[in-house]
Amino acid sequence: MIDFLALAKKYGTPLYVYDFDAMQAQYEALKEAFKGRKSILAYAIKANSNISVIQHFATLGAGADCVSIGEVRRALLAGVAPYKIIFSGVGKRDDEIQEALASNILYINVESDAELSRVELIAKRLGMAARISIRVNPNIDPKTHPYISTGLHDNKFGVDINTAKRMYLRANNSEYLDPIGIHFHIGSQLTELEPIREAAIIVADLVRSLQTVNIDLKFFDIGGGLGIRYRDEETIEPYEYAQAILSTLTALELTVVCEPGRFLTANAGYFLTKVLYEKCHDHKRFVIVDGAMNDLLRPSLYGAYHRIEVIGKEDVEPTVADIVGPVCESGDFLAKSYPLPSLEHNDLLIVHSAGAYGFGMGSNYNTRGRSAEVAVENTKSRLIRQRESFEDLIALETPYLKR
Ligand SMILES: *Cc1c(COP(=O)(O)O)cnc(C)c1O
Repeated sequence: MIDFLALAKKYGTPLYVYDFDAMQAQYEALKEAFKGRKSILAYAIKANSNISVIQHFATLGAGADCVSIGEVRRALLAGVAPYKIIFSGVGKRDDEIQEALASNILYINVESDAELSRVELIAKRLGMAARISIRVNPNIDPKTHPYISTGLHDNKFGVDINTAKRMYLRANNSEYLDPIGIHFHIGSQLTELEPIREAAIIVADLVRSLQTVNIDLKFFDIGGGLGIRYRDEETIEPYEYAQAILSTLTALELTVVCEPGRFLTANAGYFLTKVLYEKCHDHKRFVIVDGAMNDLLRPSLYGAYHRIEVIGKEDVEPTVADIVGPVCESGDFLAKSYPLPSLEHNDLLIVHSAGAYGFGMGSNYNTRGRSAEVAVENTKSRLIRQRESFEDLIALETPYLKR
């Protein structure tokens, strides 16, 4: 059990706390599920890109899935082996492509025909063959929130099967391109196995049809998206997930690459916030806390649910309240109509499942410094990112000075 009261006292609030042992358990459960097949778990570092978190997974043998050159740099800095780093994303600048190629990462996930041309041109300039994988959009409804659904033709991600085939043929004929992988990622917070299985079948069939024209891919990149339990969702077991994928790969000698983000970190993270005060309008109850949408955006952005726990008031009868932050937006809330006991100044709320898409989506809106981040490992805590100060916030600004 983590002593949240002690951590709040020691480091202050708002605060992110990450249970590194829980992260390790998630990593190992998923890695174990793919045993019997070569696999790379490339942690999708956008879920939680604190360098200590990346380092923790790197030590366990993880790779990294990156969606900007900044993330590639973070991965390298954290000690992820270059040959386990993947660069994905729907739009990459030339300088990003160039740096990724020069860093000798495993491959670039190419998401359009136009991007393939840019990568080829830049590789030619560097006098090398760029290792690439192509992101296929299998046009499957993943049955998740529309904002995090990516595998339908309505979405901006990837290319359709026929375009992908043409691109592989082109890449295979280029001196400067080395097609080694195929990629799909149909969405995030997936709780149904069937869409994943269908996508894998479609993509594995494409691999087989490429074999008939002597294009032999080595990496079958199944993306991320494995859902977690925020409230009462039925989630996919790692074993079932791995079996569904592997059953589509019979007679194919492919290394499976998986890009889990949320699955590895979400339920290992907690957001700690303190009550400032309560107030009522007629019968509407508000609990105003020191954490806000600039710290944890998911409730405002997706209407996401996070379980919230109050410590030490288990015997007080709860009534519903909206938990809101100090930011000047009506959309600034952590929960709506949430049952809570009556609360006082400085009572501590623990927001669960905050380890993915929490801190990373934070901002400085309303000139609020972002929270500190703390790792707990083997019952010991350590600060892994300082709380931002006012000076940090204004450091890059250049005020116009009157002469
Ligand atoms: C966001 C993303 C992931 C990780 O998604 P999760 O739902 O956090 O597992 C993996 N791959 C790609 C390409 C992504 O964009």
